[in-house]
Amino acid sequence: MMTANESDGTTGGTADGVTGSPADGTADGATSFADLRLRPELLNVLSGLGYEEPTPIQREAIPPLIEGSDLVGQAATGTGKTAAFALPILQRMPEEGRGAGPVALVLVPTRELAVQVSQAFHRYGREMGVRALPIYGGQPIGWQIKSIERGVDVVIATPGRALDHIGRGTLKLGGIRVVVLDEADEMLDMGFAEDIETILQETPEERQTVLFSATLPPRIEGITGRYLREPVRIQMGRETAAPGEAPKVRQEAYIVGRAHKPAALGRLLDVEAPTAAIVFCRTREEVDQLTESLNGSGYRAEALHGGMSQEQRDRVMGRLRGGTAELLIATDVAARGLDIEQLTHVVNYNVPSASESYVHRIGRVGRAGREGVAITLAEPREHRMLKAIERQTRQRIAVQKVPTVADLRARRFELTRAALQESLLEDDLQQFLAVVEPLAEEFDVMEVALAAVKLAYDSSGATVDEEEIPEVAYKPGRDGDRRDGRDGRDRRDGGRRDRRGPAEGMTRLFVGAGRSAGIRPQDLVGAIAGESRLAGRDIGTIEIADRFSLVEIPESAAEDVIKALRRTTIKGRKPTIRRERDAAGGGGRRPR
Ligand code: AMP
Repeated sequence: MMTANESDGTTGGTADGVTGSPADGTADGATSFADLRLRPELLNVLSGLGYEEPTPIQREAIPPLIEGSDLVGQAATGTGKTAAFALPILQRMPEEGRGAGPVALVLVPTRELAVQVSQAFHRYGREMGVRALPIYGGQPIGWQIKSIERGVDVVIATPGRALDHIGRGTLKLGGIRVVVLDEADEMLDMGFAEDIETILQETPEERQTVLFSATLPPRIEGITGRYLREPVRIQMGRETAAPGEAPKVRQEAYIVGRAHKPAALGRLLDVEAPTAAIVFCRTREEVDQLTESLNGSGYRAEALHGGMSQEQRDRVMGRLRGGTAELLIATDVAARGLDIEQLTHVVNYNVPSASESYVHRIGRVGRAGREGVAITLAEPREHRMLKAIERQTRQRIAVQKVPTVADLRARRFELTRAALQESLLEDDLQQFLAVVEPLAEEFDVMEVALAAVKLAYDSSGATVDEEEIPEVAYKPGRDGDRRDGRDGRDRRDGGRRDRRGPAEGMTRLFVGAGRSAGIRPQDLVGAIAGESRLAGRDIGTIEIADRFSLVEIPESAAEDVIKALRRTTIKGRKPTIRRERDAAGGGGRRPR
């Protein structure tokens, strides 16, 4: 059972969550959002969202951005980079007299990201009534023009569509004070380099320019040199953990879509059967929701976060000590200074925002020679952050498959068999002869045994959730590395058809439009990345023939991509989209 003792009586955090910092001496606990001197409207909102402290990238980037410096930040999705640039933009937004035209322009590679970033501006700028608008290809342009005319403070756009509006004179950039290039490497990979430069040239020279990118290849440095002025540089987590310090921990990750995370966690807890576990969440809201959902599914989970009073926290600790709870769902802040003996499992419900935080969390298990387990749930978009943590900690995190219903059942059979074996070794079985003997006259003893095992099995735990959790494609080794050492665009310039069939796990799509319709590789990448959940670098070889094109994509995403592309237009056309008929290993031959 779990016992716990709080090392110094503080569990960190304060009731309002944004003004205090924990007093446990951790190196990174020193700065709160209030220390970053954000305006009260922003502090209120952050507190309401349950953000307890800034992530490392936010701590580093927000002060220079508020001062107006240009900045280059190396950070992947999952680090909190969106708030790192959005909060300073909101901080510097004029309180009154905002005009009709935008003061900030954020360029992003995909429609999905445009929508997400726009939602983030709405969320953080709620109390300031900020007007943020995503504009991207595939959405009717007339509708976008009307929205821009109604007045907008921040435009979040994909480069192609932004340029289209600039050309029509419907997006005026004369009032722009800040330009952000978000996921800049991804935009370059998609062939947007020229578009980005043209757009930058349309904005006032005295603007502030901010660039975020997961990798910093020479072409990014080129743009930085031409368009940024003495930028502050932030590179997250360059320091690596000293090999000797590494705790003895089995490290695993599971790639799961957001909607399936609670089910995946439940299944992992069933299979792992931890003696005691902490599940780390990002925000107070997430802690509360997850605790409720786990308790609803029959687990005994306790919430711990900085929004709780000292009394509430003491009560939780009491229940842990008393052994009536074995699962703690917590934020980093609340779990600081908390020492839980016999902790066997640490679960990251999301990829932590920095490798330091990952190391700090998993250091809680695997103590005193015991083997600990660290499990990380990552959404597909966060796999690069996972790779970055691997690189920085110089430790491997094995990406595993979420247990299937069959795995779970096998595990429960195993547990039932072990329980029966134990029972067979006890001496108090004779009394049950009174039950077995009369049955044995009527049935075969084997049948009697099977029925008894069924009863034992049925009462051995929560019912198995029959719904399978969909597998998500994950390609290790693709993170930031060019597969062939060349620039992403060259790779796609096509012309060379790989007769061996698509790479393993990939399939080819046939698109019924090619060179004669003016189709370029970047149009296809733009359409796929913009309309589906694939990112530019998930897309493989592209071949453009005169009348058609072939695009290699992960097999597991094929149906989604086909559906998404059939809904949209490519260069104003609606070409045939289907699997390539002779696709090797792609399960092809599906008529349209
Ligand atoms: P991003 O890396 O910008 O995609 O952000 C990753 C996620 O972290 C988003 O869901 C944000 O809402 C969340 N997030 C950002 N900053 C914080 C913070 N300081 N505390 C908790 N969650 C955060």
